[in-house]
Amino acid sequence: MRGDSNGTSTRAPKGTAHVVVIGGGLAGCAAATVLAERGIRVTVVERESFLGGRAGAWQDQLADGTPFHMERGFHAFFRHYYNLRALIARVDPTLRCLTPLDDYPLIGPDGWTESFAKLPRRAPLNVMALVWRTPSMKLSDLPAIAVKAVTEMVSFDPEGTYARQDRRTAESYLDSLNFPDRARRMLFDVFAHSFFNPENRYSAGELLAMFHYYFLGNPEGLVFDTAREPFSAVLWAPLQRYLEARGVTFLTETSAVRVEQDGARFAIDIVDRLGRPETLSSDACVLAVTVPALQGLLEASPSLGDEAFRSDVRALEVTLPFVVWRLWLDRPMRPDRAPFAGTCGIGLLDNISIYEKLEGESAAWAQRTGGSIVELHAYGVDDTLDEAEIRRSLMASFHEVYPEAREAKVLEERYLARRDCPAFQPGSHARRPGVDTGIPGLFLAGDFVKLPFPSALMERAVTTGFEAANAIARTLGRHEEPIRTIPRRGLLAPFVPAKWLSTPST
Ligand SMILES: Cc1cc2nc3c(=O)[nH]c(=O)nc-3n(C[C@H](O)[C@H](O)[C@H](O)COP(=O)(O)OP(=O)(O)OC[C@H]3O[C@@H](n4cnc5c(N)ncnc54)[C@H](O)[C@@H]3O)c2cc1C
Repeated sequence: MRGDSNGTSTRAPKGTAHVVVIGGGLAGCAAATVLAERGIRVTVVERESFLGGRAGAWQDQLADGTPFHMERGFHAFFRHYYNLRALIARVDPTLRCLTPLDDYPLIGPDGWTESFAKLPRRAPLNVMALVWRTPSMKLSDLPAIAVKAVTEMVSFDPEGTYARQDRRTAESYLDSLNFPDRARRMLFDVFAHSFFNPENRYSAGELLAMFHYYFLGNPEGLVFDTAREPFSAVLWAPLQRYLEARGVTFLTETSAVRVEQDGARFAIDIVDRLGRPETLSSDACVLAVTVPALQGLLEASPSLGDEAFRSDVRALEVTLPFVVWRLWLDRPMRPDRAPFAGTCGIGLLDNISIYEKLEGESAAWAQRTGGSIVELHAYGVDDTLDEAEIRRSLMASFHEVYPEAREAKVLEERYLARRDCPAFQPGSHARRPGVDTGIPGLFLAGDFVKLPFPSALMERAVTTGFEAANAIARTLGRHEEPIRTIPRRGLLAPFVPAKWLSTPST
C-alpha cells in the first residue's frame, strides 16, 4: 500500500485522473472498460473473489473432484443488448462465445404450449402474428379485449407511460386487458415474472416499458443467444486481462465500506478479506453495487449527497428472492427436450435449462457420465416459504413437466437462494435515481438505475456503466462511448392522444 501526506493510498500516479469503481459486476466493469480505454486510471473494488456479480461464475468442484464453474444461472443474451454486445466484443470481436437459441417453448398446465420462434420482428406484425397463431386465444375472444389498455401497450413513451401507469400494479393493468384466462397466463404472467418481480408488486409502467423493450419495439425479435461456456471463461477472465493490460487495478475480496467527499476528491474506505482497512483517494467514483449495498454505503457515509438524493436511494427496494437449483442427474432427459423452456402455472417453477445442450463444460460431463445437468429457476418466490417447501415444489413441477426425470437419481446439486434483484414497485419511477447523482464526480450504475430510454437487466447494467464513464470522460475532455438503443417510443405513441389511453385511478 502506498500512502500520501494525509494517510490515504492513491495507487495512481500523481497528475493522472483516478476513478474508483465500486462493484465488479457488468455495470462496474462496463464503466471501467470505457474509462481505461481513454487512458484514465481505474481501480475496481469487488467484494467477491470473482468478477461478474449476478452474471458472474466461480470455481467449484464435484464430489469426485471434477472442477466446474457455478453461476447464478442461465442468462439470455438478447440480440438488442447492443451495449452489452459491444462490451463482449472487446474480448470476442465476432461474439463467437454466443450461440443462438432459435426457439424456447413455454410450457403451461394441462399440456399448454407457446412458441415465440419465427415471429416477424416489427410491430404491429409481431403482435398480429402472435395473436393469429397462439393456441391461447381465438379470434372470437378479440371483441372482449380492452382496446384502450392494448393501445397503451403499443404507445409506449418514456415519460407519458410512466406518468399514467407507474402508480398502478402490473397485475391490475394485465387484468384490465380482459384477455382470456389462458392467454393472460401464458403470454403475460410469464413475461411479467421474467423481471423477478411479482405482478402484484410490479409497476405497470415498468411492465409496459418491458413489453416495448423486449417485444413491440425490439427490431431484433424475441429470440436470444446463450453463452457457449461459463461466463467466467468467455467473458470475465478475458475482460480482466484486457482491463489489466490497460492499467486497471482489481481489488477483489475487498469491500468498500464508506465514501466521503474530500474537497473535490473522494476518500473511499475499503476493507480486504483479512479485515485490513485502507483508504483510496480518487477524482471520481462510480457506485456500481446492488441496492442493499448502495443503501449500506450511504448509511455509513453520512455527508455524501444531499437529503433528496439520500432519501431517493433509501426508497429503493429489492424484490422477492430467486432460487437457482442445479442438478447433476444420472441419466439424460428425453432427446427432444429444449435446451431452455419457460414454464407457467406449474408451482414455483419459472424455467428449466438442460445445461449440456447449452455449455461445453456441461456437455463434456454429460458425455463422460451419460447423465444430464439440469437447472431449475424460480423468481419472485414467496418469502414466507422455507427451503424444504421450495425444493419440494420445484422438484414436483420438474417431474410434472419432464416425467422422465422421476426415475433420475440426483448425483450432485447446488441450491442458491438470493435476494438482491431490484424491485420496480408501483410509484417508484419518479424517485428512481439516475446515473448522475448531482454530486460532482459521483455516479451510479446498475440494473436498478433510471435511464431516459427503455433498457433492462444486463443491458441496463452495461448501459448505465457506459453512461457513468461517459460523464467522467466528458469532464476530462475524452471522447464518449456510443450508446445504442431501440426506438424510444412505441409505434403509435406519436399519433395517439392521451385521452384514448387507459387512465387508472391508482
Ligand atoms: C437467476 C438470474 C437470472 C438472470 N437472467 C438474466 C437473463 O436471462 N438476461 C438478463 O439480461 N439478465 C438476467 N439476469 C439479471 C442480470 O444478472 C443482472 O441484471 C446484472 O448482472 C446486474 O449487473 P449489475 O452490475 O447491475 O449488478 P451486480 O451483478 O449485482 O454487481 C454488483 C457488484 O457489486 C459488488 N458489491 C456489492 N457491495 C459491494 C461493496 N460494498 N464493495 C465492493 N463490491 C461490492 C457485488 O459483489 C457485485 O459483484 C438474471 C439474474 C439472475 C439472478
